[in-house]
Amino acid sequence: MKRIVILGAAESGVGAAILAQKKGFEVFVSDMGQIKDSYKQMLSDACISWEEGGHTAEKILTATEVIKSPGIPEEAPMIVALRQQGTPVISDIEFAARYTKARMVCITGSNGKTTTTSLIYHILREAGYDVGLAGNIGRSFALQVAERERDWYVLELSSFQLDNMYEFRANVAVLLNITPDHLDRYGFEMQRYVDAKMRILQNMRAEDSFIYWDEDDYVPAEIAKRQPTCQLLPFSDEPQAGEAACGGETVNVSRPKAFSIAAKELPIPGKHNQRNVMAAALAALCCEVDRATLSAAIKSFPGVEHRLERVAEVNGVTYINDSKATNVDACYCAMQSVEAPVVLILGGKDKGNDYEQIRDIICEKCRALVFLGADNTKLKDFFVDSPLPQRDTHTIEACVAACAELAQPGDTVLLSPCCASFDLFNGMAERGRKFKEQVKKLQVTSNK
Ligand code: ADP
Repeated sequence: MKRIVILGAAESGVGAAILAQKKGFEVFVSDMGQIKDSYKQMLSDACISWEEGGHTAEKILTATEVIKSPGIPEEAPMIVALRQQGTPVISDIEFAARYTKARMVCITGSNGKTTTTSLIYHILREAGYDVGLAGNIGRSFALQVAERERDWYVLELSSFQLDNMYEFRANVAVLLNITPDHLDRYGFEMQRYVDAKMRILQNMRAEDSFIYWDEDDYVPAEIAKRQPTCQLLPFSDEPQAGEAACGGETVNVSRPKAFSIAAKELPIPGKHNQRNVMAAALAALCCEVDRATLSAAIKSFPGVEHRLERVAEVNGVTYINDSKATNVDACYCAMQSVEAPVVLILGGKDKGNDYEQIRDIICEKCRALVFLGADNTKLKDFFVDSPLPQRDTHTIEACVAACAELAQPGDTVLLSPCCASFDLFNGMAERGRKFKEQVKKLQVTSNK
């Protein structure tokens, strides 16, 4: 009997194990770390054997095929050993796709994946499609495939997932952009990361559609190298002959069908989101969503939590949660997207940030700065000569109170901290949620 071994027992691994079991394989799951109780329960319920806290070589090297969690690098000793003996190592996406006939809409890129994936999923649902959301987002793709057949899937794909995909075919693919990221996993060679992203194109056929950002530094040249046979649908900021464009007052598509929507009608702010809407609209048109449904669905998109998420207006001040902004680039994007004057919350676990990139925009648009972190020394030193009022805070309560005091009616308070959150919180989602809780408390107090 074919023996499938799954390395890494989190959402994707456990789902793949359950699907493999259902398909009649002998299945074994191994995790170097501790497995969450809820996943242990799922494995036990499905009578799947597993181990944690290490890999037992004899149980793994006997596999016919291995499904690897995207978090495990190629250099991990077990992966090296498997490669040496010629055992195929694939991603959970590659595995699960073998067992569904659903059409695949796949989204990758360095930035904007979650927003664009969520928007495409929202549009297809609003259009009444039988569609699942998976990949790097939501519930395991394999588990959904194990549960029932669907007509469509919208999949967010990371470069790590694409690395271990071989036969998988996207029917509609979106490549948003490629900027340096995760280079530690690619031997610090940008081309290797670019090649991983371009794998989304492999196996696409003439009837498939590839949507990409034509002003990207890498993508157009890579397409020229590869000469894909599928339908190419480039988009850019500046309108060019036959291209979809989103730089002006309207987001305009001419192929595969004409469609346009006014920029001011978009529910998510900022130029980067105009690009994401453009890509999503192109994808939806490729899936034959009609124009009226598409337009209504874009307008009703609620946005994605922690990404320029409007929380509330309190005493005339708009509070925005952009906790996902864990680097300086993302904060710059957010600062460009919100109305001035801004009270900006910065701080957390600094990953070697250079704040020079946001100095000018802060100077231009900020009323005040509030630092939120266990140790704000680097920020205080950097902005020491700035004339802006500044507050040094170490709890979310003190931070939001300082913002409320500094902001005036008409201002925006923006949590877009440039840093990871692990000094004070269990991740960016917890930071965002606690920020929202404090703002809601402020709202209750102000209504009394
Ligand atoms: P990902 O899933 O790729 O991390 P998200 O949709 O979660 O992307 O967005 C993360 C951040 O990336 C946003 O807060 C924004 O700063 C930036 N971003 C989003 N879309 C784009 C885009 N099209 N181009 C450049 N930056 C973007």
